[in-house]
Amino acid sequence: METAPATLGVFALGLASLLALIAWLHRMTLRLEIAQDQTTYLSLHDPLTGIANRALFESRLNEAMAYQYLAPTKVALVSIDLDGFKEVNDTLGHAAGDDLIRQVARRLAFALPEEATLARVGGDEFALVQPGMISEGQARWICEGLIRALHDPFVLGGETVEVTASFGVSLEDGREVTAAEMFRRADVALYAAKAEGRNRLKLYDPQMDASRREKRMLEIDLRNALITGAGLFVLYQPIFSARTGAIVGAEALVRWKHPQRGLLSPDKFIALAEETGIINQLGEWVLEQACRTAVESDLLWIAVNISPVQMRHQAFGSRVSDVLNKTGLPAKRLELEITEGVLLQHSPQIEITLARLQEMGIRIALDDFGTGYSSISYLRTYNIDKLKIDQSFTRLMGSDEVTRTIVQSVIQMADALGIDVTAEGVEDESQRLMLAKLGCTQLQGFLLSRPVTAEKLTELLLQQRAAA
Ligand code: C2E
Ligand code: CA
Ligand code: CA
Repeated sequence: METAPATLGVFALGLASLLALIAWLHRMTLRLEIAQDQTTYLSLHDPLTGIANRALFESRLNEAMAYQYLAPTKVALVSIDLDGFKEVNDTLGHAAGDDLIRQVARRLAFALPEEATLARVGGDEFALVQPGMISEGQARWICEGLIRALHDPFVLGGETVEVTASFGVSLEDGREVTAAEMFRRADVALYAAKAEGRNRLKLYDPQMDASRREKRMLEIDLRNALITGAGLFVLYQPIFSARTGAIVGAEALVRWKHPQRGLLSPDKFIALAEETGIINQLGEWVLEQACRTAVESDLLWIAVNISPVQMRHQAFGSRVSDVLNKTGLPAKRLELEITEGVLLQHSPQIEITLARLQEMGIRIALDDFGTGYSSISYLRTYNIDKLKIDQSFTRLMGSDEVTRTIVQSVIQMADALGIDVTAEGVEDESQRLMLAKLGCTQLQGFLLSRPVTAEKLTELLLQQRAAA
């Protein structure tokens, strides 16, 4: 009978280890499940923000669109893109950029209706899908809530920044379009919102496709015009000495005679050229034309408008130098007109380029002065050679006392700094007199001369010489 307790002991031992084994198995299964859950979670969520990623978003979108067969409602897909995110990243660093994305995601998620899914679908791009929509107004209302959620400034490592976003909405019923088409439409609407000045929402409208197509065609035509040289030409608007009334220089202004659309002014194609990078080539072409015209005339100098896009180009300085060599125009007869926005970027690259141009002897004029920041410190830091008072000031000066005072102080400031001032948009005699009296050094405007062809400019210069 001795075996019984032993058997019992073995049995007890066996039971204990079995129980331990079961417990161990249970623990392992649980862990595996958690790990699996975590893997699933990670595969469906954005690691930075914790909100849905594109994969989860697409499946939610497909679900929402399938639901359309059951209920007569629509699905809204909203593409959201932060305005100026790149600047935050560039000035405050990537860690601040990540922090901003996290904070934005948190605020947006908080402002969402319950059935909506918010996802991060790109660096600073978010998307939202909302099923069961009954009206356009409802979609707008949701987006306006999101816009409000971003209203208060963000604090990023001690710095306070204001951030806005643009919204593109596609509101469709799942029977007619695919999920991919929903995405495309929301992006087209987003693009329109950006183009209209950002910080707004746009609903997709088929007209938007037409205007994109049209833009694309215009882009192709512009590239062709640059290759063949057909249709593009430069006009020159003389700039006069306020004291003597003589032509001292001229500003080159590009024109495009389009085969179907007729004569186009720069506001119809410069922005497009900038967006597509064509401006680098176009700007260089204008520069070369202008330098040739100057070489062949006895203009003291020629002014050429330079786009911020060109200034950002690392090789810009050497391009200009090449054009001067090629055309034989001395650097001191060239003036480049830039806008304040260029200086605001505080880009070391641009600073190097500006310094290099000035070392060469080229003068730098600040265009449209008064419409941007108009900071005196920039004039000094960058050694600007000339200010061009924007046309809007010239126009208002006669009727508005405050504008007149501003113009007067700008002229006095330029005088103190020892730099020239050109007033733009002089259209009538009273403006001319007033500006001359205030001490403005140069005048430009329709009263004195409209932009003219190179031939006409030569003629004007000859007449002037004969009269003298
Ligand atoms: P901007 O540099 O301010 O050029 C002056 C604009 O004012 C010109 O318009 C000129 O025709 C117009 N203007 C001159 N006098 C008067 C006046 O008395 N009254 C009125 N109402 N307007 C006057 P335009 O030629 O249409 O050029 C518009 C803008 O396009 C220019 O403004 C400049 O920013 C840009 N642009 C022109 N050519 C070029 C170019 O070759 N490259 C670049 N990047 N931009 C250019
Ligand atoms: Ca200009
Ligand atoms: Ca101007």
